[in-house]
Amino acid sequence: MPEGDNPLRQLPQVQRLLEMPAAVSLCDEFGRVSVTTALRSTLAGLREQFGSGRLPVLPDADIVLLAAGELLAVRARPGLRRAINATGIVLHTNLGRAPLAQEAIAAVAEVAAAYCNLEFDLASGHRGSRTQALEPLLRELTSAEAALAVNNGAAAILLALSALAEGGEVIVSRGELVEIGGGFRVPDVIRQGGARLVEVGSTNKTRLKDYRDAITPQTRVLLKVHQSNFRTIGFTAETNIEELAELAREHRLLVVADLGSGLLHKARGTTEPSLGEALAAGADLVTCSGDKLLGGPQAGLILGSKAAVDPLRRHPLLRAVRLDKMSLAALEATLMLHRDTPERVPVLRMLGQTEAVLQQRAERLQALLGNGTVEPTQAFAGGGSLPEESIASRALALEPPCGAEAAAAQLRAGLPAVIGRIKDGRLLLDMLTVGDEELADLATALKAALSSP
Ligand SMILES: *Cc1c(COP(=O)(O)O)cnc(C)c1O
Repeated sequence: MPEGDNPLRQLPQVQRLLEMPAAVSLCDEFGRVSVTTALRSTLAGLREQFGSGRLPVLPDADIVLLAAGELLAVRARPGLRRAINATGIVLHTNLGRAPLAQEAIAAVAEVAAAYCNLEFDLASGHRGSRTQALEPLLRELTSAEAALAVNNGAAAILLALSALAEGGEVIVSRGELVEIGGGFRVPDVIRQGGARLVEVGSTNKTRLKDYRDAITPQTRVLLKVHQSNFRTIGFTAETNIEELAELAREHRLLVVADLGSGLLHKARGTTEPSLGEALAAGADLVTCSGDKLLGGPQAGLILGSKAAVDPLRRHPLLRAVRLDKMSLAALEATLMLHRDTPERVPVLRMLGQTEAVLQQRAERLQALLGNGTVEPTQAFAGGGSLPEESIASRALALEPPCGAEAAAAQLRAGLPAVIGRIKDGRLLLDMLTVGDEELADLATALKAALSSP
């Protein structure tokens, strides 16, 4: 076939497309190199589709530009994107746990865009410590003698055991050898810290005598791990921190308690120990996460006696698990809120909502959507916090014509992504974790999902 008869020659050339006004505005938005690449790949796709007969006619320049624009828009969408959490699980680890308070966001923005005194002591003009601003706040909030903050809860335990038990033995109950999630297991962390793990007791019962019998000249630490995301119920026995502390004193050992969730103020009716309580009970060191009940950024807090915390400050691992300036800023602002106005911490605010407020929010969503039924639900704190304490909440229940699974998939693909819960073939949107300011976006996304065939 002579070249002039090749219908593919009717496709517009990249150079000609780039001169069109629509391409010029795309170049302003995405850059000329990206637009050129997108046009080439769009044209290649069209050629291929036309050649294989899937495309009966070749599109004109406007259509090619439109398709390239869509390609560019998809490419520009961030991989890490905002989500509306309608699961009813406040500290959802897969959805980023705690949303930050406005005050914490402002503190992050302030230091992110400029220089700051991260490791500079403004009083002396000399080098300072990264966590020096945080430490008095942490001491004030927990009555701890000394405090330190690192990258996350797991890093806090790793650093603590590396600094206090390396080459020695750590005794832990078989009932506390927990997997926290994402394959993170307590026994592995102990080994990684260079200590030998000595398991005592049984899954359901560990008595003080079990710890006492396991103590050798190599023992350094008695470790207590909060069971976090599960509970042993029924025929059980657990040794508490007071008893362990007394045993540790007799043998000159240390008690380290990994509390998981950092509860600062004892909540009404919860069995969860607060940080201050664990210290008062005699733990030498207490560790927890910054982004669970504390409601701050990802971080690990370490609190305890000066004698127990000081070796951690000198350990080389500290450098590898240190916090960055943005997390430090968010953590300090969150701790200040706990000190002055805890009701402004979003996690605490969410957990404290009344059923009447949740009912109202569900009804508002129902009205915006003109669809669904409002139902009572059991929501949870999540993140391994307060696992057995459900929270009375409300959800809007929908029966999407395309099926709950298909609607959920479409909602996940949106921007913001919407994550709900499927129960008995229906889609539930729990109001405990949805803010009033998110209702309009949520209704828009739901309308689209409900109208798809
Ligand atoms: C969540 C948790 C951890 C891990 O904390 P991260 O901040 O996620 O690293 C460790 N121990 C317990 C008991 C926990 O609940």
